[in-house]
Amino acid sequence: MLEQSVLKQRALEFFKKADIVITKEEESLIEFTDFGLGDIENTGLEAIVYVNTERRCANELVLFPNQTCPEHYHPPIDGKEGKEETPNRAVEPPEGAYTVFHEMILNLGGQYTLPPCTKHWFRAGNEGAVVSEFSTQSRGENDIFTDKRIDVTGYKQKERK
Ligand code: ZN
Repeated sequence: MLEQSVLKQRALEFFKKADIVITKEEESLIEFTDFGLGDIENTGLEAIVYVNTERRCANELVLFPNQTCPEHYHPPIDGKEGKEETPNRAVEPPEGAYTVFHEMILNLGGQYTLPPCTKHWFRAGNEGAVVSEFSTQSRGENDIFTDKRIDVTGYKQKERK
């Protein structure tokens, strides 16, 4: 994986370009994942978790140009419905474990809400993307990815209040 400081600087440039103000404290909270596939330029995600409690979750996500968050869904946990979230997606699926395709193009300011338990993936266009995501609690370690090589323990999102 690329140097964390390099990834962090790149992510911060995207936030700046999107006029999203990131405090010094939030800067230190930027998380990166390559989903254990070792190719973060193509498959990965950068995120700041603003809040993640039992009832709600708010993230700011960065996708580098043409970077994809791979296909997955959020299963019900402890009898609670799976996470409902509002992400971004576009264009052709990358090679590999992608089984669903119903294109939803989100331009600047666009939004979309996924019903719980819906398989989804999302990909940035040529300029990359910054996505504000609001959902019920995020428990990344429970997410089910279509690509069985993906190590979800590396994707675990911290609880944050
Ligand atoms: Zn998701």
